[in-house]
Amino acid sequence: MEKVNVPLGNRTYPIFFANNVITDASRILKPYVQGKTVMIITDTNIDPLYGQTLQSTLKSEGFNVHKIVIPAGEKSKTLETSEILYNRCLEANLDRTSTIISLGGGVVGDISGFVAATYMRGIDFIQVPTSLLAQVDSSVGGKVGVNLPAAKNAVGAFHQPRAVLIDVSLLKTLPAGEFRSGLSEIIKYGVIWDKAFFDWLEENIDDLKKDDDKLQYAVIQSCRIKAEIVSQDEREKGLRAILNFGHTIGHAIESAAGYGRYTHGEAVAIGQVYESSLAVHTGFLKQQNAHKIKRLIQNAGLPVDYADIEHECLIERMLYDKKNVDTEPVFILPMDIGEVKKVKISVDNVRRFLERARE
Ligand code: NAD
Ligand code: ZN
Repeated sequence: MEKVNVPLGNRTYPIFFANNVITDASRILKPYVQGKTVMIITDTNIDPLYGQTLQSTLKSEGFNVHKIVIPAGEKSKTLETSEILYNRCLEANLDRTSTIISLGGGVVGDISGFVAATYMRGIDFIQVPTSLLAQVDSSVGGKVGVNLPAAKNAVGAFHQPRAVLIDVSLLKTLPAGEFRSGLSEIIKYGVIWDKAFFDWLEENIDDLKKDDDKLQYAVIQSCRIKAEIVSQDEREKGLRAILNFGHTIGHAIESAAGYGRYTHGEAVAIGQVYESSLAVHTGFLKQQNAHKIKRLIQNAGLPVDYADIEHECLIERMLYDKKNVDTEPVFILPMDIGEVKKVKISVDNVRRFLERARE
């Protein structure tokens, strides 16, 4: 079993990587659970696959185990669902020594982390991420939260888990589209931070779906990179912004096309292609590197272009992005593979770029 430590200020928590260990999860996680009572939070897709197994293994270690199953999907990530969860935690007598264990994708991770951050002013939580996106992205970094009807992730907290257990064998049951969506974030890590990892991905992208060792390697590298960035900037005051490569245009495409048309990962894939091309347009990146990025995204089975969105509509969404505090959109642009910089670009310049790119 491999382990990556995430150092944050004066404390550190571990991410464990192992294959086929769900039946052994309680042995691995036991040292990170202080009390006797645990609450598993999972969703309706994941529960029949892994919920019972996790519950049994925790029971066999003598824990008092409860479980709540929420409907699968983004629509569950709300304050209303949180209230249901708080009440269930109360009924099950969870106290300050209890632990919430999140078993699921980013939706389950975000809302159960949010409930853990706020129930009784904060209790422990552990993540067992089951989607590729959750394994490489949402389970690392401590951002937890829920959506408001008008804005995604508008209410939340920073609440780091006690531990994370990542088992890539759980991804066997993940729908193919969700798997590809996670690949988009994996590619992002290569572009923003690690040329050697990018080169490795170029060689191995086709094997990730069928080779668990390679998949685990890619997941570990991704977590290592995200952990390194988050450790240097836990509260997103600076460096952490580089994780938004592909996301300024990606979020704009996601929302302008209507949520659901593109998965988050697909939109971010297109965003990475366009932002790389914007970096060429603005003179930061060599054309051949933009081609390499596009080719890798294409080889991962991800889209590289969008259909039918007006330039002005995209620009408007870029300006509304909550991370843009200015009147000019901010981009994380690659200078080279493995190196990015935060750049503000005038609306006129973005418009000219989009016109040329879409000719
Ligand atoms: P998700 O949790 O909805 O999971 C996607 C789908 O796959 C769901 O239907 C789920 O039930 C199913 N699923 C998950 N694991 C499975 C498995 N092993 N087998 C079969 N089905 C499985 O979505 P997601 O893509 O995992 O996460 C998206 C969420 O993550 C968004 O709400 C986003 O805001 C959030 N997010 C958070 C952060 C963060 O830093 N906290 C970062 C990125 C994304
Ligand atoms: Zn993302």
